[in-house]
Amino acid sequence: MSLSESELPRTEEEWRVRLSPEEFRVLREAGTERPWTGEYVETKTPGVYHCRACGAELFRSEDKFDSHCGWPSFDDAIPGAVKEISDNTLGMRRTEIRCARCDSHLGHVFEGEGFTPKDIRHCVNSISVRLEPTQG
Ligand SMILES: [Zn+2]
Repeated sequence: MSLSESELPRTEEEWRVRLSPEEFRVLREAGTERPWTGEYVETKTPGVYHCRACGAELFRSEDKFDSHCGWPSFDDAIPGAVKEISDNTLGMRRTEIRCARCDSHLGHVFEGEGFTPKDIRHCVNSISVRLEPTQG
């Protein structure tokens, strides 16, 4: 269930009516859900995680790993699906990740923590994505 290019909202007001208040706060205002509260923190179900705002495919369950940080973590993204933006808010130098298609906020990406051989952690808000389980 992916929005076509012409269906994508153009303004924040259009997004506001499509999304729940909490989805809007995270996706469109770069909010962060509280750790351990998201529905996909410990999910192992095979499938593809889609952008909750526009439906684009973002992450695969094969790349999800247990980071014990309280948010779903992936050591890879579907190529070209996410874009990185440097974020210096809160006095920290971080890299924000957004959906490349609709520019909605997903979370942050961290490197050099040593969790997996790829050594990258896409730290994603559950509310920014929706899992479509693999059929069968
Ligand atoms: Zn999107």
